[in-house]
Amino acid sequence: MVNHYSFNAKRKTQNGKRYLMVRFKVILAVTVVVLFLFTLLASAPARDPRPWDQPVSCPKCQSDRVVYILYGEPKLDAELQRALDSGKVELGGCILTPDSKRWECRKCKYSWGKVIPDQ
Ligand SMILES: [Zn+2]
Repeated sequence: MVNHYSFNAKRKTQNGKRYLMVRFKVILAVTVVVLFLFTLLASAPARDPRPWDQPVSCPKCQSDRVVYILYGEPKLDAELQRALDSGKVELGGCILTPDSKRWECRKCKYSWGKVIPDQ
């Protein structure tokens, strides 16, 4: 009776160990998959923030329909093209003067933000 009991207890312990091992393997597998996905996401090329992405509102009328004026000859990529199409960005041309402004409000036409800082 005692022997039988201890045999069962031993088997139970072995089953418990096996169960723990399976659980450990599952946790390990999940961890590896999560780490792999995380590495994949982290290695994805991070979108470099564009200056027109920052939330800016007109200092005069508080409208957020403002245009970022881009000077010079920018490299036209898909993102800039989208910004130009949506009217978020306008090209200001190559000529920069001390009066050139960085932002313009679509609502009240106020423009602000010096491109060339004061000397
Ligand atoms: Zn305005």
